[in-house]
Amino acid sequence: MTNDKLLIGGTWCNAENDRTFNVHNPATGGVLSAVADASGADARRAIDAAVAAAAAWEAAPPRVRSDLLRRTYELLVEHAEQIAMLITLEMGKPLEESRTEVAYGADYLRWFSEEAVRISGRVTSAADGTATMLVTHRPVGPSYLITPWNFPLAMATRKLGPALAAGCTVIIKPAEMTPLTTLYLAGLFEEAGLPAGVINVITTSNAPEISDVVLNDPRLRKLSFTGSTAVGTHLMQQAAPHVLRVSMELGGNAPFIVFDDADLDIAVESAMAAKFRNVGQACTAANRFLVQRGIADAFASRMEERIAELRVGPGTMRDVAVGPLIDDRAVSKLERLVGAAVSEGASVLVGGHRLSGSGSFFAPTLLRGVLASSVIGREEIFGPVLPIVEFDAESEAVELANDTPYGLASYVFTESQSRVQRMIHSLDTGMMGVNVGVISNAAAPFGGTKHSGIGREGGTEGIQEYLTTKYTLLRQG
Ligand code: NAP
Repeated sequence: MTNDKLLIGGTWCNAENDRTFNVHNPATGGVLSAVADASGADARRAIDAAVAAAAAWEAAPPRVRSDLLRRTYELLVEHAEQIAMLITLEMGKPLEESRTEVAYGADYLRWFSEEAVRISGRVTSAADGTATMLVTHRPVGPSYLITPWNFPLAMATRKLGPALAAGCTVIIKPAEMTPLTTLYLAGLFEEAGLPAGVINVITTSNAPEISDVVLNDPRLRKLSFTGSTAVGTHLMQQAAPHVLRVSMELGGNAPFIVFDDADLDIAVESAMAAKFRNVGQACTAANRFLVQRGIADAFASRMEERIAELRVGPGTMRDVAVGPLIDDRAVSKLERLVGAAVSEGASVLVGGHRLSGSGSFFAPTLLRGVLASSVIGREEIFGPVLPIVEFDAESEAVELANDTPYGLASYVFTESQSRVQRMIHSLDTGMMGVNVGVISNAAAPFGGTKHSGIGREGGTEGIQEYLTTKYTLLRQG
């Protein structure tokens, strides 16, 4: 299994007073493991360790940082099956999807092992020719990384990869519900030669206590958070007094727009992926299906067939396509959202209810005749419920799509290249898929506009979040 202790300064240790908390399997409600429950005192030790290791890690040759990431990538691939099982056990997604997450998550370490040796600056002449301008980059400094439960591996590697490549030491705090994958990952980093203090792992049932200590320490220089917009904005306020660099990957409300001229087969296949991947619990999950009137009947009936076929059950069972939700609160939220849509006149074509028995399961659901103003289109659904809203004109689709405080992902289905050009300009989201339902890629800048966040993870942009720019003026001659 995995480690159950804190990793601080290169030592696996108990929390203060030996406190622990239990991690549960959402498919059964049973306890998987007890892990160390860090307090503020443990957080203080973690920041001390990250600060103590900072200068040596900054001075480590880029090739050394690169090799550590590459070796850990290789270990992740070697241990893919164990990690996939761990993800499924603590988070619930079907095993096949956990395998996909391992490949996707590992890719961030491979990508940033390649970026570590390509941190470049520039040299220019002052416009009046009297001096040379030198632009160089340094690591921003000790960084605090907070990750959510929905992609326990990939959300960790998407931050650890660029932070370590840039030369930053870190404290990482995984979500209370899914700490085991991060602990396992830290073990692989150690096996790959991680120097003491470069990664410090804090697991806790009291996130605010830990964050109060870490964010109040003036030696911390960076906060990178992935999670809900509500918590993210609160943390931004806490980061303000010490003027921390912040990266925020927050909530989404992705529109999935199907125009009359779309290839129906592609739209249906992509809708299944964009909605039901990760049991609908992805920030990029399609939240609102905006379907043009002329194709709505055909799209709805094809979706009805496909959704009715989905097998629901524990992610460890063969052929299961939809696992449990993370907890019972998530099931209750879906009941509320579906109930509100139905009371406003929407019809339930498939599902629409919680499933009885142990674990937190909700039936894959298709709703038609949903009002654009319904609460189900305003909140992040975060579950296997697909609401169809119909529209007539392209301009109406754009208006509906942008009518949200969020701006993470959008999806467009059309065979018209000129329409694609118009959508690129008019949809206010950080990412967009055209005739495709899954867009995440280690080589691409992941991130949003408006309340969906600040900054980008992945791509050549990702490492910039952990670098600070220094400009030096050299007198000529
Ligand atoms: P969450 O409740 O905001 O929690 C995210 C992380 O913040 C967890 O580690 C959590 O710890 C911690 N946290 C919660 N309250 C805190 C506080 N007061 N101080 C410090 N830390 C605190 O979000 P979630 O429910 O885990 O994740 C779902 C959300 O994440 C969705 O909105 C989803 O869209 C978003 N998300 C965004 C992206 C993206 O890249 N844009 C990717 C994935 C998910 P505990 O678990 O211990 O409470």
